[in-house]
Formats: sequence, structure tokens, C-alpha cells
Amino acid sequence: MPASNPALSANAPLPANKATSDVKPTGKPRSLSGLAPFLRPYRWRIGAALVFLTLAALATLAFPLALRGLVDQGMVSGDPGSRLMAMREHFLALFGVGAALGVFSALRFYMVTWLGERVTADLRNAVYSHVIRQSPEFFETTQTGEVLSRITTDTTVVQTVVGSSFSMGLRSLVMGVGAMAMLVATNPVVMLQVLGILVLVVVPAVYFGRRVRKLSRASQDRVADTSAIAAEVLNSVPVVQSYTQEIGEASRFAQASENAFETARKRTKMRAGLVAFIITATFAALLWGLYIGTQAVMAGRITAGHLGQSVVYAILMVSSVAVLAEVYGDVLRAAGATERLMELLASRSPVADPAQPLPLPQLAGGTALRLQNLQFNYPSRPQQAALQDFHLDIAPGETVALVGPSGAGKSTVFQLLLRFYDAQQGQVLLNGVNTQQLSLHDLRASIGLVPQDSVIFSSSALENIRYGRPDATDEQVMAAAKAAFADEFIRALPEGYQTFLGERGVRLSGGQRQRISIARAMLKNPPLLLLDEATSALDAESERMVQAALEAAMQDRTTLVIAHRLATVQRADRIVVLEHGRIVEQGTHAELTAKGGLYARLAALQFDAGY
Ligand code: ATP
Repeated sequence: MPASNPALSANAPLPANKATSDVKPTGKPRSLSGLAPFLRPYRWRIGAALVFLTLAALATLAFPLALRGLVDQGMVSGDPGSRLMAMREHFLALFGVGAALGVFSALRFYMVTWLGERVTADLRNAVYSHVIRQSPEFFETTQTGEVLSRITTDTTVVQTVVGSSFSMGLRSLVMGVGAMAMLVATNPVVMLQVLGILVLVVVPAVYFGRRVRKLSRASQDRVADTSAIAAEVLNSVPVVQSYTQEIGEASRFAQASENAFETARKRTKMRAGLVAFIITATFAALLWGLYIGTQAVMAGRITAGHLGQSVVYAILMVSSVAVLAEVYGDVLRAAGATERLMELLASRSPVADPAQPLPLPQLAGGTALRLQNLQFNYPSRPQQAALQDFHLDIAPGETVALVGPSGAGKSTVFQLLLRFYDAQQGQVLLNGVNTQQLSLHDLRASIGLVPQDSVIFSSSALENIRYGRPDATDEQVMAAAKAAFADEFIRALPEGYQTFLGERGVRLSGGQRQRISIARAMLKNPPLLLLDEATSALDAESERMVQAALEAAMQDRTTLVIAHRLATVQRADRIVVLEHGRIVEQGTHAELTAKGGLYARLAALQFDAGY
């Protein structure tokens, strides 16, 4: 098990535990209510948006009234002169209504779109910052591609609702209710009958709606499957190509896409049915009302203007209902997406900061470490102990080499020191303090990790090293690079320290990547260094440089190194030999070789003489 990326190496379900994040738990991950904490900070803006929305809706509702005035009074009065004047007034009134509608609509649009973008950005940030604090166990059950999909696709679905559908819905609701109120006020008997019929529409709509919501969620899940596949494969393109699996991988992705499409199709079909049903039923009810209205005009009980006004209100009401039906579908879809996001936010990391962290005491001679009677198994393998009866004392400034066969538990020691996991029994003491009583930040700030596979970020050489201490000056970065024997090759790069190293450092050789990684740890200058020596063979010159860099890094600090090189074990103050999670031998290279035990056998077989 390589220790290079411990954050991605667990294999366990998520046990519930204390909160590690500043994002408040939202209780049961249930639909849209999870968005409330994200909307709350913007309540004033929401209020303003509501005001503009209502004003725009009122302007729309005033339109038929102005129209009725124009038809019934503007066109009716006696002589042509005064009729013209009256008409002008009515047209001016109509224009006033139109202008108000334009301005209020624009203000509402700005406010609401702003809100959608803002809330989505906040939601994305909250989910991301929560996820990157999770312990390695989390990433075993949740693939990175899946997380990415939630952060991008699901938040976009939420954005559609908060930033547009919701306001469209609200506007339609205000208008629909307003139009209905006007219809009821002007044609009470008929409209009350129409309303009675409309209530019958609601029941089947709710049934359809529930199914749409389920399918929406399933559809988002299927989209996430495709992201998970893509993320995995894009990270291993050279391997895929070397095994000529491009076609296989492409069809695996196509299959997942097809599943996503099929689920989306089912969802859309259901949603289309929902929309068709709501619109048809509403239309039918209203037409019936209008049919009675026309008869009333013919019988002379109401005026033509009155009927015209009613027709416009009826059209407003039907179109509002149509929009509401669409919006309802969007809202259901967003509810599915929100559920998925809230699930991520509700996951709790089993490794948490203590309620009252202790300060890390400083010792005069350096950092002392004690691993006291540890008993540990990975949560996903409760039966198999990864470390047992493990007791190790390391004096300040000492260099201890961990050796042992593959799977002996060497990387596991690092995982426990960094508190990626907590041991079931025993404790890890740093300068005499149990690491569980230190804040995770203090603990990890005092440890430098040089992993087996060097991690290079897609930025410049300078920034890659500065990652070890973000506030370091350029001079300090360069000094660290010099100490790690990286200065020379970096200066030889096309743009020196400013050279972009490519994603995952694809533009560097293995030995160069290692030296950057060592320089980063040296810049951090931690009192405790954890070094997982690379197993990959380097050519003699690179090897010499890397060894020299390592030697410089180990100087004057407590170091624990998972050793694969003879040179490294020979340099160590003490060698600790592990087998099946236990310490089986300890001593110097000479002592252990003379003893003729496991170490002597391993040394004969395993160590690359190197330099
Ligand atoms: P190598 O030299 O091959 O890297 P190692 O000595 O570092 O091996 P560890 O990685 O510490 O070995 O693994 C010790 C045992 O724990 C192994 O049996 C391994 O299969 C198991 N193990 C390691 N990581 C996990 C994990 N995340 N979940 C479950 N089991 C794990």
C-alpha cells in the first residue's frame, strides 16, 4: 500500500462522529429546506427581490384594467375630439403600466439572478471546504469524480431554481392569484365554479411530482457515475493507453452516459406528462368559464370590455399555471440535487479536533515521539490488525528507519502519526502530549511528509516549493531548493523558477519531482520529518542527488523513514524491522546483519545498493 496519497487509501463506510467543519449539520438531508442556511444571510436581498417581483406582477395585473378603460370609455364617448383626448390618456396610462413593468422586471431579474449565483457559489465553497477536511475513509466510499459532479452539476441545478425558476414561479404565483382574484371579483359565480374544478387538478399533480423528484435524484446520480469514471480514467491515461483500453474505456463511459440519458428521459417524460396535464386541465376549466361569459355578453348582462378584461385575466392565469407547472418540475429536480449536496455536508469525519486542544510543548533537543502500545486495524478490515503491540520510542533528533516486507505496516505508522486514522488502542505522544489532544492543524504543522510518489501541483516550480510554507519569500524558497539540490535543474528549465510544471508534474523526471518534494518539506522546516523513500530506481546521478537532498532534510530533526535503500538504512541511528504489524527486530545495520534474522534476509534480497 503506497503511503504517497494517504488521503485516498482507506476502504471503509462512514461512521458518524463529531463535526470537524464550520458548516452546521442540517439534520436529515431532506429536500430544499437544506438551502435555508445558505439563503438566510441574504434575506434583505430576497425581500427586495420580492418587492420588485410583486410590483412587476401588479403592473401586469393593471394592464387589463387599463385596457378595459380604453375599450369601454376611450372608444365610447361622444364627439371625435374628446374621444381622441380620452384615447390619448388611456394610451398614456397603458404606456405607464408597460414602463413600470419593464423597470420592475429588470430589477427583479438582477436581484434574483444575483441571489442564484451567490447562493450557488457559497454552496460550492461550503461543500468543497467540507469535503477536503474529510479523513481518508470518506474518499474510499465516495469517488472523487462523484464529489466533483455534486459540486458542479448539482449546484447548477440548484442555481437554476434559486436564480430563475423560483422567481418565475413566484411571479407567476402572484400573477395567477391576482388574476384569479380579479376574475372572482368580476365574475364571482362562474369563477368559483372554475376554482372548484381546479382543486381536482392538484391531487394527480402531487402524485406525478413525487415520481419526478425520485427520477431527478436518480438522474443526478447517473450523471455523477459518468464523472466518476471520467475522473478515474483521465488520471491514468498513460496506463489506459499502454493497455490499449481506449475503446473499452470509451464504451464504459458511453454505457454510463446512456444510463444517465435513459434516466433523464424517464424523468422528462414524467415531467412532460405533468405539464400537459396541468395546462390542459386549467385551460379546460377556464374555457368553460369564458363560454358562460360570452353567453352573458350576448344576453346583455355584461359589457364587451368586461369580457375582454376577463379574457386577458384568463390568459394570464393559464400562462401562470403553465409556468408554475414547469417551475414545479424544476423545484423537484433541485430538491433531488439539494439532497445529494446535503448528504455530503452531513458526513462527519471520524478524526476530529479535540474540544479543547492543548498547546504543543517544545523540547530543547528537538521533537520526541512515542508510539505507545498501539493496536490498530483499518475500519474496513476489523479482523485484520495492521499494527499490534506496537511500541516505539524515538529520541529528539534521532533518525529511525522502518523496514519490513510489503504489507508489514510501515505506511500505517505514518497514517497514525498524521492522524488520518486513530488507533483502537494505545496512543501516539508528541513531546509527551497525546496527539488526539492537539489540534489537527498544530499536529500536522509540526510534521513534514515526503511521500513515495511526489505530488506536483499544476503551477510554477516556485509555487510548488512554496506550498511547504505559503508565506515564504522567493529567497527562502530558493534556499530550500538549493539545500534539496533542486536549484540547478530548476534554473535550467525554460523559465527557471517560474516554469509551469504541468499537471502532476508531467514535465519533470522522477528524481526531479522527488527533489522538489524534499525542498517543499525543507521549506516547511518541521521538527518531525516523515519520509517514504521512493522505490522506483533512479539513474546513478539522480540517485546521488536525491540521497544528498534527503540527507540535508534529515539533519537536525527527528526523522522516521520508510527505507528502501541500503544507503538510507546505513545512515539511520536505528533500524526497526516490522512484520505483520509487529516490531520484530531493532538495531543498527551492522548489529542486525550480524544477527542473521529477518533483517539480514531482507537486506540481502531487498535493498538496492544505490549510493
Ligand atoms: P508497502 O511496503 O507495500 O507499502 P507497508 O508496510 O507500508 O507496505 P501498509 O500500507 O502499512 O504496509 O499496510 C499494512 C496492512 O494494512 C496491509 O495488509 C494492507 O493491506 C492493509 N491496509 C493498508 N491500507 C489500508 C486501508 N486503507 N484499508 C484497509 N486496509 C489497509
